Parts: sequence; structure tokens; C-alpha cells
Amino acid sequence: MLFVNTAQIVTCAGSPGPRRGSAMNDLEVLRDSAVVTRGDVIAAVGPRRQIAQQFPKAKQVDCGGGVLMPALVDSHTHAVFGAPRSAEHEMRALGLDYMEIARRGGGIHSSVRDVRERSENELVRLARARIRRLASFGVGTIEVKSGYGLTLEDELKLLRVIRKLSKELPVRLIPTFLGAHEIPLDHRDTAARRREYVDAVIHEMIPHVARQRLAVFADVFCETGVYTVSESREILRAARSAGLSLKLHADELTSSGGAELAAEVRVTSADHLAAISDKGIRALAASATVATLLPSTMLFLGNPSQAPARRMIEAGLPIALATDFNPGTSPTVSLPLVLTLGVSQLRLSAAESVVASTVNGAAAVGLAASVGQITPGYAADLALFEISDYRELPYWLGARICRALWTRGKACDVHDLDIT
Ligand SMILES: [Zn+2]
Repeated sequence: MLFVNTAQIVTCAGSPGPRRGSAMNDLEVLRDSAVVTRGDVIAAVGPRRQIAQQFPKAKQVDCGGGVLMPALVDSHTHAVFGAPRSAEHEMRALGLDYMEIARRGGGIHSSVRDVRERSENELVRLARARIRRLASFGVGTIEVKSGYGLTLEDELKLLRVIRKLSKELPVRLIPTFLGAHEIPLDHRDTAARRREYVDAVIHEMIPHVARQRLAVFADVFCETGVYTVSESREILRAARSAGLSLKLHADELTSSGGAELAAEVRVTSADHLAAISDKGIRALAASATVATLLPSTMLFLGNPSQAPARRMIEAGLPIALATDFNPGTSPTVSLPLVLTLGVSQLRLSAAESVVASTVNGAAAVGLAASVGQITPGYAADLALFEISDYRELPYWLGARICRALWTRGKACDVHDLDIT
């Protein structure tokens, strides 16, 4: 296919990433140019006339004067869950704190109870609609975590839901095992019971997940009151030995050594980091880990503290942006909205917000060499936006401006994606 009639083609071409420092502004914006795809990969990019002569038989796709970009990458979601948790949202506004909400049956544990009661098919139906909606904003690759099961059977059930949808939907799903999302309620009363659960994650869940090839990544919620640094280290090491790649929820609410641990065990991405310490910034800057920031979470919680993104970029950390789509703290399906927050809350440039959700998003899921750029040989994952300048992507606050999406060279109807 030959993509013509664009106002701009943003290729993001260059080093496979992750990009850091001033390279986070490297976009490459082409005018009067065209893109050719062959099968599921990009075949050529260049001046329109030259490309048209070179590929005379290619089927033309009229981009209607929009902006063509690599399909976006959402590298952090919890998209498989049951009921929404709207009551908690209101309770927080009315001044109830986390403990009181938990006492009334809210929080992660309410999603866990809910997921345990639902069948695999029911969860497939719910997640299908939500993932299609995420994709309809121009997203071609979506990382999806388990973590609302917290028993061997229920965690495997969630990962099977992701596998099923990954075969059925046109978008690329990256499955992550997050059995260490919380300590289940029935393991919290004594240190021995708590240890039993950590052992179950290490000795039962991880081996099953790895054997059945149900996940690419393993992740841990390392936070004061959830998993300690030493428990997180143990779980991550076990996951690596089983052949899984690693991610870490680190320093979301308190600076608890999460970023330092992420650098020490060389996770692919360390996520949240709203409370990262200076020491944590230095540790991550010296590592290959991507720092994935999730500004919609803090916004939704009404928490004024966002990650110190500017300082992180100046220190040389590669930044990715993701939705953290989940029913408790970030019920947004719009990655472009997160780019808006990246600019207005985290003070990224528009170009940095684009690199953070393409090249660096791909690096955060281990796909920097094949996804996130319009470069020959890369996956033919393209998003067409109804704008005339890429800076409008993070500008139109909350709008869905994606007109068309192609993944692996095949068109997905984005309007159809949103009809469930
Ligand atoms: Zn998360």
C-alpha cells in the first residue's frame, strides 16, 4: 500500500531507542512524502514522486491531508477487570481516605473479589470492548497485566483472557503477569501467611505462567504497604530465571527504593515514579531501564504530585507515557489524553510526548527494534490523525482524532473498534 496526501509524516526514524536527553525530541517530520508497506512491514519512506515511481503498482491510500504516524504504544494497562469502581471516585471527592474506602469494600480487593466470581468468557467480553476502545485512539500495541486474581487459578484465567484477545483482535497485546499486585486479604494477618503468598507467586504461579507461555513480562507492585524491596527483588529474580522479562511498579506514592531496585535488577521499565528520589533518578540514568510515567493516575486521584519528568529527562532517563488504564485509579482509554497531560503537567515538549508514546513506549515493552517507527523493516503499524500538525496530537484535550489505524499492514476500522 502507498500512503499519500498527508500534511505530515512523523516517522520517529532513528536509533531503535530508548531515546534519552535531547534525542527525545528526534521525530523527523516529512512533508510531500509517502510511505509504502509490503505485507506486514514498512517497505519505504521518502519523497512522494520518487516513491510513486518506485512502486507504481502499490494500492494508494488517500490520507486526506492528515498526519500519519507510527501507531502509538500503550505500555502499561490493567485492561482485564470486571465492574467499574465509580463509587470510590465519588467517596474520594467526599473526603474518605483510602482505609475507609477499603473498609467499605473498595480498592484493588473489590476488583479481585469481582474477577474471581466471573467466568473467563465474561472477562473476555468485557476486556474486548475496553481494548478496542483503547485502540480506537490510534494505539497499535497494548501491554495488558493480570493482577486482579491473586490465586494461581485466577491469575492464569486473566492471562488466558489476554491470550484469547491477542489472537482475536487486530492490535498487538503484550501480556504481563502481575500476581504480586497486592497481598490478598486472606494472607495479611500474620507474617507467615504473607510469606506463604510470596512463596506461591515464586514457586507456583511463575513456573505455571512460564511453562504455559502466558506472559512476556512479570511485574511487581513495590510500594510501602504493598511489596517490600526485598520481596520484589526475590520475585523479579525468580521471574527472570523462569525466562520472563521484567517490569516494576516503583515509587508511585512514596520514595521507597523502587527505582534503585529497578536499576539493580535491570528491569525493562520502571513505572509510575511520581515519588522518585534523586538517588533513584541517578540509578535509573545509569541503567538501560525506561521510566514509564502515568500522569492520568495522579490527575484522577486528585493528587497534585506528578513525576519530576523534566529533571528526569535532564538526568538522561528515557521517558515513556502510558494510560495505566484500570478501574480504580485511571479509567481512561485515551492515550492522546495522556500525551496532553505529558505536555501540560509533566512539561514535555510535543515531540517528547510523541517519542514517549512511540519509540520509548516500544522500548518499554521490549519491541524497540520492530515497533514505534516508520522505518523500512519495522512493523507496518500506522495511525492517521485528523490534524495538520503533529503538535495537535497532545493539544485536542480529550478528543478522538484518530481517523484510521493499520496494524501489521492491515486496516482496522477505528469507528467500528469503538462499537461494542
Ligand atoms: Zn499499574
